[in-house]
Amino acid sequence: MSQSCNARIDPTLSSSVGIDGVDLAVLAARFGTPLQVYSAGAIRQRIHALHCELIGLDAMVCYAVKANSNHAVLQLMAQAGLGADIVSSGELRRCLRAGIAAERIVFSGVGKSEAEIIEALDARVSRFNVESFDELCLLRQLADQRATTTHAAVRINPDVDAQTHAKISTGRAENKFGVSFDEARRWFAQHPRTSRLRLDGLHVHIGSQILNLDPFRVALERTAAFQRELAGQGHLITSLDVGGGLGVRYRDDEDRAIDIADYVDVVRRSLHDFRGRLVFEPGRWLVAEAGLLLTRIIRIKHGQQRRFVVVDAAMNDLLRPSLYDAWHDIAPVLKASENRMTCDIVGPVCETGDTFARSRELPECAAGDLLMIRTTGAYAASMASNYNSRPLAAEVMVDDGRYAAIRQRQTFEQMTAGDVMTPQWQSL
Ligand SMILES: *Cc1c(COP(=O)(O)O)cnc(C)c1O
Repeated sequence: MSQSCNARIDPTLSSSVGIDGVDLAVLAARFGTPLQVYSAGAIRQRIHALHCELIGLDAMVCYAVKANSNHAVLQLMAQAGLGADIVSSGELRRCLRAGIAAERIVFSGVGKSEAEIIEALDARVSRFNVESFDELCLLRQLADQRATTTHAAVRINPDVDAQTHAKISTGRAENKFGVSFDEARRWFAQHPRTSRLRLDGLHVHIGSQILNLDPFRVALERTAAFQRELAGQGHLITSLDVGGGLGVRYRDDEDRAIDIADYVDVVRRSLHDFRGRLVFEPGRWLVAEAGLLLTRIIRIKHGQQRRFVVVDAAMNDLLRPSLYDAWHDIAPVLKASENRMTCDIVGPVCETGDTFARSRELPECAAGDLLMIRTTGAYAASMASNYNSRPLAAEVMVDDGRYAAIRQRQTFEQMTAGDVMTPQWQSL
């Protein structure tokens, strides 16, 4: 593997003082906290490393937009030539607005509405990843009605345990995603070849934050065998979508991001006799480690049994610890006292689940100090809410010593813009 293929994010991009050449304390002073900060350089490194491993393959990388749908992040993906994996009309519009070509967009998800399918057909997205028979029939009917030729891939549920958190596992038979090989077999047997809908792809995505390559290997080998069976029956498969799911480092001392060279090697070997296009849908792996959440300590509260460090970020800014019991490394910005303390790091929201860390050791800190919560580039801002009437946090991108606001902090007026002050009651 050449040096330029190195997927490790350059450690100088992020330190206890700065990120990508920009001082974190300055950012906090300028934009306030909580503040999401993303390194453009770190995202570009991941894209480059992935592209480097894909040389020689007929591959299309479709960034999973739900990981981080900020316009500036999408523009960065568009500039690097990436496509997108979308799950809603909102994501479709964000992608088109950011300059991602429709022919590089794939549409996934179990709940595509009729209106969303029509919008995506009219935009001429590249492919629909279809998850149920009902959806297949609707898509076929709409494509034929509108005389729009399009492509569909069957999302296979290969019944593989991705060995990740149950809430982000998607490839078990009991999960709502995809269909069994048996059902897919029937779809291909019955699909009318005269339809404008070309059923010519397979798709498999077994879950997220996967750190072990074996589940990928098993799922892909099963899919490859199925593709050979279909080819033997005369069903031409032109595209095989291997999904996303690549895990990243959340704990410096324990986990390590999936090695991209090893991952692509598994894909190459598992699908060695497949001649069509490969689609990759990484989300988290491209952006998670490029982000951090800056937060300020409001106060230290000495409870009856525990010490609580109350910060100004909360579960509405970063839901992962509450939702998945996820670990995020947390460290003070700038100063590191020699003395250590054990504490629970909690937000202001009125939920016990609003806890970023329990019994965590930190250098001794005080009210007013800045902390950074690491690895928040994915599934943080994109999952944010207004719970407790907290406005959405600001987001900043940094790039080689420069920085720019890429999302203004939400104002009270924006947060409440949809409220109806005087309901106009009507009778039928
Ligand atoms: C969420 C999702 C992805 C991206 O998953 P990551 O774990 O973020 O890489 C890719 N494909 C589909 C269909 C998804 O639902």
